[in-house]
Amino acid sequence: MTRIILMGPPGVGKGTQAARLAVALGVPAVSTGDLFREHVRTQSELGRSVSALLAAGRYVPDEVTNTMVAERLSEADARQGFILDGYPRTLAQVGALDALLAADGAGTLDAVLLLQAEVDEIVARLVLRAEQQGRADDTPEVVRHRIEVYESETAPLAGAYAERGLLTRVDGTGTLDEVTARLHAALSEARAA
Ligand code: ADP
Repeated sequence: MTRIILMGPPGVGKGTQAARLAVALGVPAVSTGDLFREHVRTQSELGRSVSALLAAGRYVPDEVTNTMVAERLSEADARQGFILDGYPRTLAQVGALDALLAADGAGTLDAVLLLQAEVDEIVARLVLRAEQQGRADDTPEVVRHRIEVYESETAPLAGAYAERGLLTRVDGTGTLDEVTARLHAALSEARAA
């Protein structure tokens, strides 16, 4: 079983690192942002209901998000575990995830890895991503808003997981390989603890 939460501000590299860890550990990376964007792209009912929120950098309501994640984690490829990227993001989502893990009786989380970088570095990366990928929510204004929302709503979750002894902070600067190596080291330590 491999159950990891990868946390951190927008633009810190969670998605890239989650994908790398997923390959190395043989479990899927589950990104709520990617799942929502896929719904928007295919114009599903869910996609139509959340597209304006995504474009504005606002959170999708917890109930909608929790249901989508529960469905995704019930799929066969997640039976051996998962790496969550972008979830949970609110205390209500932490509670929903706890309930989900308790209900399937397979134990608790291995680790919550918090990727960190300076705000200036993050904004620079997101501006670059906007040029490369053209994501609707990577405009400077929306980026700033997303970082504020992260700081007020998501950062406190780190405290909740730290109280449970699950949190490890990981330096998100340097090359991709350096960050991946730090994440693997943090995971080994968390598992040995
Ligand atoms: P970033 O981490 O760069 O902000 P994500 O791809 O994780 O980007 O998320 C993009 C958008 O998807 C968020 O701004 C929000 O609108 C929505 N979203 C993603 N995850 C969640 C979540 N756990 N709860 C609510 N909304 C979410």
